[in-house]
Amino acid sequence: MRVLVTEDEADVRSVIARALERDGHAVSIAGTLEEARRALAAGVDLLVLDLSLPDGSGLTLCREIRATQASLPILILTARTQVELRVEGLDAGADDYLTKPFALPELRARVRALGRRGPISRPFVHVFNGVRLDLAGRRALRDGEQVPVTAREWAILEALANRGGRVMTRVELLENVWGSSSESAGNSLEVLVARLRKKFGPDLIQTLRREGYSLSGSIEGGSS
Ligand code: CA
Repeated sequence: MRVLVTEDEADVRSVIARALERDGHAVSIAGTLEEARRALAAGVDLLVLDLSLPDGSGLTLCREIRATQASLPILILTARTQVELRVEGLDAGADDYLTKPFALPELRARVRALGRRGPISRPFVHVFNGVRLDLAGRRALRDGEQVPVTAREWAILEALANRGGRVMTRVELLENVWGSSSESAGNSLEVLVARLRKKFGPDLIQTLRREGYSLSGSIEGGSS
C-alpha cells in the first residue's frame, strides 16, 4: 500500500516510516498540512495523520478528504491529553486512532487492519431543505429533481460544501473557483451566487457581511 505519514516530529515520523516500509508499504512523508495535500494529490492508499501540525489541525485535512475523496482510510495520532480531539477526529471522518506514545506493533497492526478493509464507502452528500449536493456524482438535486448547474456554479457549491458549513472568505472562494480575486471575478461571483439562490432557494448560501459565504446544511445520507 502507499501510505502517507503526516507527522511534524521528525524522529517519530521516521520511526513510523521505517516500520511501515519494513512491512512492505511504499511510504511517503509530510511534516505539514501543505506537504500532506501535495502528497495526497499524487495518490495514497492510507493516511497516518498527526492532529497537531505546524500549519493547522489534522482535523481540517480529515474533513477536506472526506468531502472529496471519501474512501481513503485515515488513522489519526493524538496525544494522551487530547481525548476530545480523538472524538472530534472520528467525527471528522477518521477511521481509527492511536494515542501517543504507542507501540510500533500496535501501529503496524492498525495499518494492516485498515488496509484489509480497503476503500470504505461513505456518504458524502450535502443536504439542506430538500437540496442534495452529491459531491461524488457531482450533481445537484432539488426535491428529487436534478438541477442543471454550470461548472463554475458547481465549483462554488463544492468549495463551500468542503468547508463543512464554516465560513469561506470572499477572497478564498474567488481564489478557489477562479484562481484570482480580481474585480471581474468578484462580479461574476455575485451573479452566480444570485443564480444559485434562484435555483436552490435563498437560504442555501449564506452571505456574512464583511466575512464571506457559508453553505447551510450538513453532510449526511447516502450517495444517491
Ligand atoms: Ca505534532
